[in-house]
This record gives sequence, C-alpha cells and structure tokens, in this order.
Amino acid sequence: MSKTRVRFAPSPTGFFHIGSARTALFNWLYARHTGGTFVLRIEDTDRERNNEEYLNVIKDGMKWLGLDWDEGPDVGGNYGPYFQSERDDIYKKFLEILRQKGRAYDKDGAVFFKVSGRKQVLHDAVYGDVERLEEKDFPIFRSNGTPVFHFVNVVDDICMEITNVIRGQDHLTNTNKHIELFKAFDAPLPQFAHIPLILKTDGHGKMSKRDRGALIEEYRQKNFLPDAVRNYLCLLGWNPKNDREIMDISEIVELFDFPGIVKSNARFDERKMAHFNTEHIRALPPEKFAELARAAIKSESDIDVGSDGGYIAKVFALCQPKAANMESFPSMVRFFFSDEFPYDAAAREKVFRKGDPLARLAELNEILPAVEDFSRDAIYAAIADAAAKRGLKTTEYFPILRYAVSGMAGGPDLMPALETLGKDRVLKRIASVPQAAE
Ligand code: GLU
Repeated sequence: MSKTRVRFAPSPTGFFHIGSARTALFNWLYARHTGGTFVLRIEDTDRERNNEEYLNVIKDGMKWLGLDWDEGPDVGGNYGPYFQSERDDIYKKFLEILRQKGRAYDKDGAVFFKVSGRKQVLHDAVYGDVERLEEKDFPIFRSNGTPVFHFVNVVDDICMEITNVIRGQDHLTNTNKHIELFKAFDAPLPQFAHIPLILKTDGHGKMSKRDRGALIEEYRQKNFLPDAVRNYLCLLGWNPKNDREIMDISEIVELFDFPGIVKSNARFDERKMAHFNTEHIRALPPEKFAELARAAIKSESDIDVGSDGGYIAKVFALCQPKAANMESFPSMVRFFFSDEFPYDAAAREKVFRKGDPLARLAELNEILPAVEDFSRDAIYAAIADAAAKRGLKTTEYFPILRYAVSGMAGGPDLMPALETLGKDRVLKRIASVPQAAE
C-alpha cells in the first residue's frame, strides 16, 4: 500500500476555530499513526479575504498545538506551507487537460466543468456508502480568471498525491463534485473520511467563531496547556474506546484510527475543557510545571519570586496539586512572595460567618509563637493540643489562620504552607490581620 499522505487545507479567514484545529489535528494524528506525511496547504485563491496576518493565526495556532507539517517549499530552513495562490500555472495545465478531454467549456465568461451525468457513490471511512444525486455542470474558473475551490482542491489533492481526505462533515455535499473531477482526470480517488461537526454546548447549531471557547487564540491567551487543549479536541468526534480521557499524545497517536471516529456530532463543553487543563497541569513533572509557573508569574509586576531557588521550588510543589489553571496561578501564590497580598472579600465573609474566628485568632497569637521547630507536624500538634484543652475541634482554627496568612479561603495545604512561609512571616501576619476586626 502506498504511504499515507494527508493534508490540512484551511482558507485563511483571520481566526483559528476549534473546528479547523480539530480537522488539522485528526489529519496530523493519522499521519503520525501511519508514519505518513502531513501537508499544510493554504487555500487562498479567494484573494480578497486573505492576507499574511490571517495566515499567521493558523500557523501560530498549529505550532502552539504541536501540529508540525512535514513538507513544503523551503523558507529559511523550514517548510513553508503550499499556497494555492502560487500555483496558477499548475491549475492552467490541469484546465488544459480537461479541455482536451472535452470536459471544460466557456460560458458567460467563466469556465464550466462538464460532469459525467452518472450517479456517484462515496465510500466514506466514517459515514459509509453515501449515494449522491447527479451533479450539474459547475464553474471551475470565474469570469475574473480565478479558479474555484472544487477545482483547485482536487487538482492539489492529485498533485500532492493525497491518499486520505479527512475534513469536516460540512464538506460531504462537495464530495460528489470532487469525485467527478478526480475521475475526469483519471486519478485514483483518495479515501474520504468526513468527521462530525462540533456543536455548541446546548447542542443547538455549530460552534461559531463568536461562541466562547471557539478560538484557539483564546486558550493561548488564558495560558491553557496546549497538551490539554489537544487532548480535549481529540475526543470531539473520536472515541478511543478505552474508558480513558486524559491521555498522553503518544498514546493517542498509537490508538487513533478511523474506526474510532464517530458519526454523531460532538458537543463542545467549556467545563470539560477546563477540567482537562487542570488534569494536565497536575500531571506535569515538577520541572515543567515550574517553568510554566514562572512564565505565568512573570507578567505580574507585583510578584518578585526572589532568588531563593529552594523556596520557590517548595512553593511551586505545594501549589501544583491545587492549581486549577495557570491563569489564576499568580493570585494563588502571591502571598508566598509578598506581604502585599489582597484580603479577599468573599473569603472574609466565609471565614467570619461561622464560630468565633477572632477568639481563635487571639489564641493562635499565643499558640504559634511557642512552637519552636516550625515544622508542619509541630504546628499541627500545637494547635491540636490547644483545641483539645478548650474542647474545640482542631479545624476551627484553620479558616481564620489561612485567611490571616494568605487573604484567601482556599489554596495549598495549610500546614505545609505555614512551614514554607516560616515562623516570622506567619507570626507577623496573624498579629496584624487588618480587616479581621472591622
Ligand atoms: N479550504 C477548505 C476548508 O477550509 C478545505 C476543504 C478540504 O479539506 O477539502 O474548508
């Protein structure tokens, strides 16, 4: 069998929609799964709408998702994509072939393709055999001389020896025209695989660029892990049938194949995407997490992590298991690096709603100074001891203590956080919780 060659063929429209990203991803996965070649081809014959900036959105998005392409014209040692706008000569040659075969004719200034008049059956790898109505003759060059999508799409698939066309189900209705063209050129048909649409969360209609979470740029800006986004996108229309969802890319590459692609439309779920992000963050090796953590903090001018590598590593290790996303990470760790952290109003409300936090705070101001070795176990033992003496639960001390040292109601485990902060800072903070008495 010939080696797999697949392509992603976007029209540069100014954004990188998750539907396009998912099409790119499925092609890339299939290429990697089969050891084949992944081609990037920019379908930019509709010149008015396309420009360099639009293209960069796609290229940057693909790079961010780790979808590297395997060939193309050499640009400074890298592969550039193929551009249809640079392939006019090829299209003219192919038009000539059709003319010679009597399959193209001029009408109203445009060039039309003469169809076979036969019914075509599409053997789709996902949708099975789909019989189509006969096509009518259709234009392949506009009166302004530019070639039409169906024509250039097929000519390029022939020239680039594409073996598998994997694309959105919305192209199913074009396939008949494409099969007609392949046959007119006596070219072998690629294996078609149309992949289900991505619907809005409520199931009403296709995700549009205006829907929240629809653009890959959004995830980059919010510091999502590309691995997490990619993992989630894999599952929009593909089912690994192994009851697992959070997967490593190498595992996905191994499992990805057409039988796993489902016919039913997928539904986008923003919460699930966020959950994947959290899971991937928590599963990162500590060094990798530390890199991301530093990058996330860098943009916060009021956080200076200082130069104590051991301290920084401890803080990151403590916070990684509690990090929901990298966007909110700086506000979670700020209190470790600065005394100028905010006291959260909602946290305060929560802490002061129950029990007698001010009394507990006063007691903590006596208990903690007496703890000599300021380790998590010793701190806990001292608080537990004081609680027992007063007939209180140890946990009654925790909300106000956490609030006093961090300004928050949640965050990393409290005892290790106190140990990491160190006795001086903790004592200073519990002695001066500014808003506590208000
Ligand atoms: N340029 C088309 C699109 O963006 C490509 C269709 C195809 O993959 O064949 O939808």
